[in-house]
Amino acid sequence: MNKPASKQPVFRFAPSPNGQLHLGHALSAILNHDMAKRELGRFLLRIEDIDIARSTPEFEAGIIADLKWLGLDWEQPVRRQSEHLDLYRQSLGQLIARDLVYPAFLTRGAIKTAVGEFEARGKTWPRDPDGAPLYPGEERRLSDDARQRMLAGGKPHAWRLDMAKAMAQLKEPLTWQESGSGPTDETGLIAADPSAWGDVVLSRLDAPSSYHLAVTLDDALQGVSHVVRGSDLFHATSVHRLLQTLLDLPHPVYHHHRLILGPDGRKLSKSNRDTGIAAFREAGKTPDDIRQMLLL
Ligand code: GLU
Repeated sequence: MNKPASKQPVFRFAPSPNGQLHLGHALSAILNHDMAKRELGRFLLRIEDIDIARSTPEFEAGIIADLKWLGLDWEQPVRRQSEHLDLYRQSLGQLIARDLVYPAFLTRGAIKTAVGEFEARGKTWPRDPDGAPLYPGEERRLSDDARQRMLAGGKPHAWRLDMAKAMAQLKEPLTWQESGSGPTDETGLIAADPSAWGDVVLSRLDAPSSYHLAVTLDDALQGVSHVVRGSDLFHATSVHRLLQTLLDLPHPVYHHHRLILGPDGRKLSKSNRDTGIAAFREAGKTPDDIRQMLLL
């Protein structure tokens, strides 16, 4: 018997179709699928394809074929982020109207140069939890007029969250409920630390959203109650909790699971074909073999 709709847990697997699925993705997808089954919940598949330059229909078809081969099934229709760009634009518009984001004109190359010059003087530039330099954010100091002139001039830009302003809106410390790995206390609560990310990108130079904005909005819109994903996204959850609070969205429970490492001890990458699910299938492995390799 199904639980009542409002209480039914909702899980999702949300791959980006910019490469083949590897063992790490298989672990994520299987964990989500099995937890949903166990808890009489729903299991959704979401294709995170806002990165139009790197996403292809062939990779998407490959992902679907691999997941089916693994024996997973999910609800239809599948949500594809590229079909919902207006939604992301709308939410960004709200944040622009509240003056919580600003247009950022520096390209990745320009940031690298600025940081390189700074560090050449023997000082260290602050970095985010993924090791990328924090955005310098000079544009925060632009007058309204100057900002409008640059925008009217059509200069390409991203939109970045003004982290200090956003943090100042919080009425209480941000936390999240974690049921997987991470430094939880006995309540399972983790203290979120969005500031560690600096002024994160919410809309990219080349796409009307960033991963952070799209994932937060979609999880809320799809009623996702449990986010189960790799521990490489553990720290990103701080940003997602902040966006949920700013945009008045519900917040799921999080479960960050172990990563599958390659023989070199590093996280698997999509470019490493040897650990691709398709390669195992072609080599005659079965879905049960994959579960065993994943120690499931
Ligand atoms: N699309 C992200 C990825 O493939 C995962 C997003 C998430 O699970 O929050 O890495």
